[in-house]
Amino acid sequence: LENFDIQKIRADFPILGRQVNGKPLIYFDNGATTQKPKQVIDAIVNYYVDMNSNVHRGVHYLSQISTDAFEVTRRKAQAFIHAKHDHEIIITKGTTEAINIVATCYGRPFIGKDDEIIISAMEHHSNIVPWQMLCDEKGCKLRVIPMDERGELDQNVYRQLFSERTRLVACTYVSNALGTVNPIKDMIEVAHSHGVPVLVDGAQAVQHIAVDVQALDVDFFAFSGHKMYGPTGVGVLYGKEELLNKMPPYQGGGDMIKEVTFEKTTYNELPFKFEAGTPNIEAGICLAHAIDYLNNIGLESIRSYEESLLAYATEQLSAVDGVRFIGMATHKSSVISFVVDGVHPYDIGVILDKLGIAVRTGHHCAQPVMDQFQIPGTVRISLAMYNTKEEIDTLVAGLKRALQMLK
Ligand code: PMP
Repeated sequence: LENFDIQKIRADFPILGRQVNGKPLIYFDNGATTQKPKQVIDAIVNYYVDMNSNVHRGVHYLSQISTDAFEVTRRKAQAFIHAKHDHEIIITKGTTEAINIVATCYGRPFIGKDDEIIISAMEHHSNIVPWQMLCDEKGCKLRVIPMDERGELDQNVYRQLFSERTRLVACTYVSNALGTVNPIKDMIEVAHSHGVPVLVDGAQAVQHIAVDVQALDVDFFAFSGHKMYGPTGVGVLYGKEELLNKMPPYQGGGDMIKEVTFEKTTYNELPFKFEAGTPNIEAGICLAHAIDYLNNIGLESIRSYEESLLAYATEQLSAVDGVRFIGMATHKSSVISFVVDGVHPYDIGVILDKLGIAVRTGHHCAQPVMDQFQIPGTVRISLAMYNTKEEIDTLVAGLKRALQMLK
C-alpha cells in the first residue's frame, strides 16, 4: 500500500508504546475513541504554550491567531467532507450535540403533531433519544427501518415507511455495534424522491471512508473529532446552507448575536448563530491536525488496510470454538461484534484486559440492537489504522485462553 507504513504510523501514537497489566497495550476499542498521534498531541501543547486566547473576540494578537487557527479547522473540515461553503460547518461538542441541534432547531419548528421521523433499528442512542424527546414534546412519531439477522437494513420496508407525514430521515452511515455500512447514498435518494431531508450520523464513518456531502446530497451530517484521531469535545454538524438559514439558533449567549438590547436581539449569521459561548478552543484548533493526519495517509489507503485487517480478524476469530458473530453484513467497516454462548461478554473483556488487550463489552449504546438479537451485549473489536495482524493473533490466543478458563 502506497503511503502506508504501519511501523511509521504506530510510532506516531505514543500510547501504543505503553504497557497495561505488564503486557504491551493492544487497543481494540477504537469505536469508543481512537488514540491520538503526536502531531495532534503536540498541537494541543502548542496551543497553550503559544496562542491560548479566546476566539472571535479580541483585537489583540493572540486572539487573532487563535481565531485564525480555529477558522482553519472549519475550512479543513469543509474540505474533508467536501462541503460547498465553510459556513455550513458548525463546530460542536461532538456528534451527540450535532444531532441535538438538528432535533431542536429543525425538529421543533418544522416537525409537528402526527408528523413522522424515520430512523433505523441500528441507531446509537444519540440518534434515537433526541427524536423521542421531540416526539414527546410535539406529538410526532418514530418509524423504524427494520434490520435482518445479518445486520442489514431492509431497504424494501424503508421505501414503504414513507407517508405524506414523513418529515425527516435520521440514519447512521456505519453501525458502531455491528460495523454495517449502510447504502446511505441510495437511502438519501429515496428520501429526496419524497421531498424528505436526511441526517446522516457519520461518527463511525469519517475515520474509515472518504465522505463527500455534496455527492451524497445529504442534508445534515454529524461526526466527532475524538473518533478520528482528534481531541475530545469537538465535532461537526454539516448542514445545507438553505436549511441552516431557516433554523433558529440553538443556545443563546455570546458569539451567536449581532446586537443585543433588553427589548430585542438580532442573531448572528452562519455559522456563528449555532455556536453560542466560548467553544472548546484547544480541541477546535487541534481537530485540523487530525484531519491533516488522515489526509496525509489518505482515506483510500486506510480503507484498504483496514479491510484486510477486518477480513483477517473475521477469519481468525471464526476459527475459535464457540464464537458467534453478531452482524455479518456484506458491507462492513472495522467492527467485529461477537458472543460466546454460555459465557458473559464482560468476563471475556476482564480476562483480555489482564492480557493488555482493550475491547469493549456491553450494549455499545445501541440497546435496541442487542434486544433484536436477544443478547445482553457483545464483545466488540473495533479496528483503527494502527492495528496489526500480530495484534489480532495475540487477541485470538488470549480469547482461547479466556474461554478455557470460563467454559
Ligand atoms: N453515533 C455513533 C454511531 C457513535 O458510535 C457514537 C459514539 N459511540 C455517537 C453517535 C456519539 O458520539 P459522541 O459521543 O462523540 O457525541
